[in-house]
Amino acid sequence: MRSMVRTRNPLFAGPDLAGRRVLVVGFGTSGRAALRLLTARGAVVTVNDRRSETELGPAADEARAAGATLVCDGHPAELARDFDLLVVSPGVGDNELLSAARMAGVPVWGEVELAARHCVGRIIAITGSNGKSTTTAMIGAILRSSGIRGGTGGNLAIPFSDLLAEDGPDAVHALELSSFQLETLASLRPTVALVLNLSPDHLDRYASLDDYAQAKARLLALQDPGDDAVLNADDKASDQFRKSVRGRLATFSTRGPVERGAWLEHGRLTLDIGSGVEPLLAAAELPLPGEHNTANALAAGLATRLIGCPIESISGALRSFPGLAHRLERVAEIRGVTFYNDSKGTNPDSTLRALAAFPVGCVQLILGGREKGADWGELLATIERRQVPRVLLVGAATPLLARLLTGRVPFVECQTVAAAAREGFAGAKRGQIVLLSPGCASYDQYQNFEERGEDFRGTVAAIAGENADA
Ligand code: ADP
Repeated sequence: MRSMVRTRNPLFAGPDLAGRRVLVVGFGTSGRAALRLLTARGAVVTVNDRRSETELGPAADEARAAGATLVCDGHPAELARDFDLLVVSPGVGDNELLSAARMAGVPVWGEVELAARHCVGRIIAITGSNGKSTTTAMIGAILRSSGIRGGTGGNLAIPFSDLLAEDGPDAVHALELSSFQLETLASLRPTVALVLNLSPDHLDRYASLDDYAQAKARLLALQDPGDDAVLNADDKASDQFRKSVRGRLATFSTRGPVERGAWLEHGRLTLDIGSGVEPLLAAAELPLPGEHNTANALAAGLATRLIGCPIESISGALRSFPGLAHRLERVAEIRGVTFYNDSKGTNPDSTLRALAAFPVGCVQLILGGREKGADWGELLATIERRQVPRVLLVGAATPLLARLLTGRVPFVECQTVAAAAREGFAGAKRGQIVLLSPGCASYDQYQNFEERGEDFRGTVAAIAGENADA
């Protein structure tokens, strides 16, 4: 019942939704999850979307089956006055309806806020620029192997509202949160808040790195003094978060011991959260390549140890963690050339980490897509230092990247991921790697990074077929 005590607007706490008139604005994945939670709590729900009923298709049927009224084809301002509460999906930009609701004093919540107010279990919340999904999945695996009930979701995966199906006083939910979701959050109280790192991403949406950092720091400000805040001791940019910590600080480092936290020493992951040094496992036992994944494992091990998971469950789950699709995923080896799909590498920093996971001089790198105003300096220096034989450029960022690479590193303009995969294979020597780690968003040519990764995989499968007898 902790969430109720902390609720800042008691009028809308858990049971009080019964009979309340609620408008769900935006009916995508999180809007639908919000509808399920709201109807389960007895709210009277109307669903509003900018799309038409025909465009909504089966989703419209779902809304009707749940007993909701539908208002389609836009977000009319006059709707606002008929409701006690608006629940807005993250994909919905500011519009007349939301302004009118705020003017009229009608609360406007995100879907995460709605769920946070109804969550009884504990929460491990994860944010950062890179590694959120991987670390969240590792935490989920550890919780499962510890026999703790709860779910793994948030951000782009399973909405928080849906995780509450597994809620209860003993539950622990691992929740991945983007900075966009954090901006409007007031009621979430993470027992463990984990900020993995900070690198310039999404600078197209934020005015400065500072604004972006502030959105992430909100997670720490939501905690109480008895909660735990986990920060990255190796990441200079993360130092600024220390001033926002309200709970107890713990850190992780791949460089050596920290005072309270988790670290890598003599090739072993080790923990100390105040009850003595506890060895976890050897880094060589982790199935995922790259130092960044060791960092993710340290963060996941630390967060779960802080909520009481046994050491053996943590080690066991990390040892058998299979990794996620599209994150340094080994796709195939064809005639001695290995293909890796890191389509989720959507900013220069993640590409830099991916390169560091492989030996020097052997990666044919597929780079490009929709650029987000990032700083490319460090990645370019890394590409040179790691003696990347060729960069294969794709998508809308080609002119920019070609200009930056000219005179520094050989590159080929390939336009598409499929052409780049073929070019990479044609130019690779035995023992080399063709790596898709584009450092950019996918939206110039694809719906999402998954589709881009599938395209790459599909091309690799075709190349494998053509070389089957070789
Ligand atoms: P997110 O959910 O934050 O986007 P993912 O776990 O999906 O992160 O990983 C995205 C990409 O970021 C991976 O493909 C990998 O190249 C890179 N990455 C993963 N973990 C880290 C880390 N700790 N630091 C830097 N880069 C990372």
